[in-house]
Amino acid sequence: MTCQETIAILADYLEGECGPEMLADLERHLADCAPCRAYLATYKRTRELTEQVGRVEMPEEMRRRLRQFLLDTLAKGEGPS
Ligand SMILES: [Zn+2]
Repeated sequence: MTCQETIAILADYLEGECGPEMLADLERHLADCAPCRAYLATYKRTRELTEQVGRVEMPEEMRRRLRQFLLDTLAKGEGPS
């Protein structure tokens, strides 16, 4: 699984909407990929904050920014290719 694929299904993962196979692939990738783990942690934290202020869904703009943040980090060569 690539970082892009991981990011794409992360929301489903957090909602518990991934199948067992996809979940295993995702967790295997996260075990090896620090940038994706950092992204997941940020995503979770942000989602908790938005829930605290009464929102169920993370705003699309925020998702987009988080995704871009990770892609920028990868582009700088700080993560695995
Ligand atoms: Zn990754």
